[in-house]
Amino acid sequence: MIDLRSDTVTKPTQEMRAAMAAAEVGDDVYGEDPTVTALEERVAALLGKEAALFTPTGSMANVLAVGLLVAPGQEVLCEARAHIARAELGAHGAITGLTMRTWRDRRGQIDLAAIDEMLSPDLGPFFVRTAALSVENTHNFAGGAVLPLEDLRALRSYADEHAVAVHMDGARVWNAHVATGTPLEEYGAVADVVSVCLSKGLGAPVGSLLAGPADAIAEARVRRKRLGGGMRQVGVLAAAGLHALDHHLERLADDHAHARLLAEAVGVDPATVDTNIVAVDSDDALGMVARAKEHGVLIGAVGSKTVRLVTHLGVSRDDAETAAKVLASL
Ligand SMILES: *Cc1c(COP(=O)(O)O)cnc(C)c1O
Repeated sequence: MIDLRSDTVTKPTQEMRAAMAAAEVGDDVYGEDPTVTALEERVAALLGKEAALFTPTGSMANVLAVGLLVAPGQEVLCEARAHIARAELGAHGAITGLTMRTWRDRRGQIDLAAIDEMLSPDLGPFFVRTAALSVENTHNFAGGAVLPLEDLRALRSYADEHAVAVHMDGARVWNAHVATGTPLEEYGAVADVVSVCLSKGLGAPVGSLLAGPADAIAEARVRRKRLGGGMRQVGVLAAAGLHALDHHLERLADDHAHARLLAEAVGVDPATVDTNIVAVDSDDALGMVARAKEHGVLIGAVGSKTVRLVTHLGVSRDDAETAAKVLASL
């Protein structure tokens, strides 16, 4: 089976497993796991932030991140298909007690005019107060679209002007960095807090981080424990993350090339494929998923009329070419 359902399906390589086995560990709730500390410091530095916090999942990193910026009863604005809005099972409402309003952009891009129409930073005694804007880079359900740096900078200026905060869901900011050459710290500079995933294209089995100002991350550390996310000798997992940053970052360019190859085969303009995700219109998404499976290719439906192809560490050039032939024939 060639598995194009998600870049979360990667399995740790032998080298990664060796790095995990050799990791120095300690009790991270006591702040005594040197490998976790090294990973947190490394990711904070990459994003140009003071500190970072290791979390078991990206969903937890996002709940902590947005919760630092938005108090119960306040709102965050985001694009309609943002992961925080669609794919976290309502965690931000259920746990933080915030509300969301959304703008809609086919490519998941920032729409400052729409944001400006919705924004209510402090409009008196009955309007929900907008406390933060959240953006997703790359945008998962918009087909791995990159948010251009100049748009992010314009958003940052707008947010500063209106005294609201900015969260970046950077689960795949690594892909944006590799695809555009934009330094990670330039992305870090436009957001107050950034969440990143190690368990997508980077190929670690588990792990995400939240990066931001030292005082905010110290508060997030307390809240993580409250959520049950304080982990102990977790350096074995942090070691996988460090190994991934050393060995699997630049190779994301291969995934992007494979995604363009798949796009071409299924009649999607490769120029619209920024990174490792191809969103394909299909009249019958579930039928397409079933037929592809019969031919040895696993793909996912992300809507009744959209299938999604995702390339990653576990998909070689040969795999991509084989899958392209199968999907083209269907
Ligand atoms: C995968 C993903 C996350 C985090 O998901 P988890 O499964 O909780 O690790 C967050 N945001 C985006 C855009 C994602 O694709």
